[in-house]
Amino acid sequence: MSQAQTIPGPIPARGTALVVGASLAGLALAISLARSGLAVDVLERAEEERQGGTGLRLWGGMGETSRRRDGSGTAMPSIASIASAGAPGPEGWATVRRRLADAAALEPGVSIHYESEVVDIGQDAETAWASDANGKVHVADILLGADGHRSLVRRSVDPAHPDASYAGYMIWTGKAPYDAAPGWAEGRNHMDMITLPHGDGVMIVGETKTNGEPRRYFWQWYDPTSNDYLRETGALVDDVSQYSLVNERIAASKYQDIHERSAHWPEPWGRIVRHSVKQRRIIATPIAEYVPRRLMHGRIAIIGDAAHVPSPMTGAGFDTGLADAETLGALTQRGVVGPRGRKVLNAYEKQRLGTAQRMVRSGQGFGRSLLERTTG
Ligand SMILES: Cc1cc2nc3c(=O)[nH]c(=O)nc-3n(C[C@H](O)[C@H](O)[C@H](O)COP(=O)(O)OP(=O)(O)OC[C@H]3O[C@@H](n4cnc5c(N)ncnc54)[C@H](O)[C@@H]3O)c2cc1C
Repeated sequence: MSQAQTIPGPIPARGTALVVGASLAGLALAISLARSGLAVDVLERAEEERQGGTGLRLWGGMGETSRRRDGSGTAMPSIASIASAGAPGPEGWATVRRRLADAAALEPGVSIHYESEVVDIGQDAETAWASDANGKVHVADILLGADGHRSLVRRSVDPAHPDASYAGYMIWTGKAPYDAAPGWAEGRNHMDMITLPHGDGVMIVGETKTNGEPRRYFWQWYDPTSNDYLRETGALVDDVSQYSLVNERIAASKYQDIHERSAHWPEPWGRIVRHSVKQRRIIATPIAEYVPRRLMHGRIAIIGDAAHVPSPMTGAGFDTGLADAETLGALTQRGVVGPRGRKVLNAYEKQRLGTAQRMVRSGQGFGRSLLERTTG
């Protein structure tokens, strides 16, 4: 490799990893690799403080504790229990991200570099590297892409199949304070699915856990009737989802349309949606799907939404990313230096590819039935 190396300091015996993306999967992965004794640099294009997102359903099915694999054997909370704070159930995306970021910051082997957008990656027989938009080149034994549904890293792993494709429907999401419909969720901590009248699609509704934070409702409306609008705005180009429309980037006429349609929906959800309309606080996301054909190439691999993009209806995207991270952590405990790096990533692909493919395909079944129901 001809470029300058910028990672200073002693090289740990078990090796080094670069992770692209410090969202849910990337942070979980950084913690998992550090627990196996690797030194991990995480490169994230966004700033450290981030808001947004909607409710995630956390299953917490992976046990409450795990042990460090760095030779110490110290018992630690499992990454799933860090994410859920020990109580599975619906939770806000920003809360989960903050918990994982705090835990990653406490790991001695992890360094997170915010405002570092990766613009190019590469590899040779011994190393993998990432160039960021600030002109730095970061080098490690292995490179893992946790860079989401429009992954740059995926382009190197499977250049013939680089893009997630549009599922044919979108999702509107919003939140509202508890006093928008006081009492509805009293004593409950759950989510419901509602089929909306007039072919308007379906809605997932619920209340996030409290954990000392204000109670909030969230709603997610799966809408197969707004494809033309997405194309007009540029959020959808050809078959590829480009970005979400957030708050004021949604046209006033579209807010008006949602307001009018919500008059037919069951209460209190019509009212809660109208609260989000009034505040102009709604996110519109074209749903992308990606069934992977491979998860690694040489010293580079992908995890989380970079590796598999399911419909959110599966409720499994985050948990599958967590399982990817735990698998990679377990496989790297004997190190990733030299030929081991490629072997470890090869074993990761063998263990995780089938699960990832099945998970995405299960969501495609929901999409087909939604489209059939609403288009007759
Ligand atoms: C409405 C909705 C509801 C959902 N509900 C659930 C649920 O109930 N349960 C569940 O398990 N899953 C759910 N999911 C899925 C879950 O949210 C995703 O699977 C998960 O957030 C993906 O996390 P990720 O870290 O892989 O990707 P992302 O969150 O997309 O993160 C990618 C990160 O990489 C960064 N990045 C991208 N490119 C670069 C670059 N070039 N350089 C540096 N950084 C880069 C981005 O800034 C971002 O921080 C839901 C999804 C949606 C949309």
